[in-house]
Amino acid sequence: MVHEFGLSPDSGNRVKIVLNQNRTESEGRFNQGHLERLLDVKMFLLDLDGTVYLEDELIPGVSDFIKSLTRRKIPFVFLTNNSSHNTKEYVERLNSFGFPVQPENVLTSGLVTGSFISQKKPGAALYVVGTDSLKEELASFNLKIHSHNSAGVDFVVAGFDTQLTYEKILAACMYLDSGAGFVATNPDLVCPVKHGRFVPDCGSICVMLKNATGREPIFMGKPHTFMVQHLRSRFGLPPSSMAIIGDRLTTDIALGFNGGLTTICVLSGEATVEDIRKSPLKPDFVVHSIDQLNEIF
Ligand SMILES: [Mg+2]
Repeated sequence: MVHEFGLSPDSGNRVKIVLNQNRTESEGRFNQGHLERLLDVKMFLLDLDGTVYLEDELIPGVSDFIKSLTRRKIPFVFLTNNSSHNTKEYVERLNSFGFPVQPENVLTSGLVTGSFISQKKPGAALYVVGTDSLKEELASFNLKIHSHNSAGVDFVVAGFDTQLTYEKILAACMYLDSGAGFVATNPDLVCPVKHGRFVPDCGSICVMLKNATGREPIFMGKPHTFMVQHLRSRFGLPPSSMAIIGDRLTTDIALGFNGGLTTICVLSGEATVEDIRKSPLKPDFVVHSIDQLNEIF
């Protein structure tokens, strides 16, 4: 079963590729075609949790990979669906890991939400079921953040609200019932935390709001392609020249498929070889971790 994907049972961590790009053959090593395809990538999108770090620990090899991209002048952006923190906080976190990243190297689902709404209606009034960090991100687009008893709310925004209260749910239902637009940062039902546990994420909050009001949000984060569209206009590169590296099939790899990107699945987080075998979405490349890409870059 494992061997079907080219991971020979005795190969340990030395095998570099699990599934090749035409999704039918097995390969134990990068061949010339793989090398050319990977070296042709003009921009890398990197998921964070499970791909770059696990909780507070950096995954080995990530620093070298980022250094190589910097040296080769290949742009890279860290992508996250987690909207409980904002761009500024992610930049600080990544800097604390030793990455000299700038805000343009980070894209959160919250930022894409702010960008989307400000294009739909500049200066729109929002009611936010989200953290103070998300509110700060949205306010940076000159969107107005309203309190629970204001009139004239244009959009309800739902995020991964780790400061959720019943009062916020009540207010969101009232605004949705009155016809406000409904935008959500990310569809994830749960967010994995330490010790194999999870906490309810934005998608679960939206299920409650949907059941109460019959309204469904537009989701901004992975696997929907708003992030790719945002990066396309920010960097002026076609999605076909981008590659996404991630550990989740249903978000990272699905985003790659939906957006037409090269997909690289790492086995350092959620997805296992068994998951990939069962999944209808077969990534173009599967590696144990980002470290294996250092042999190319
Ligand atoms: Mg991940």
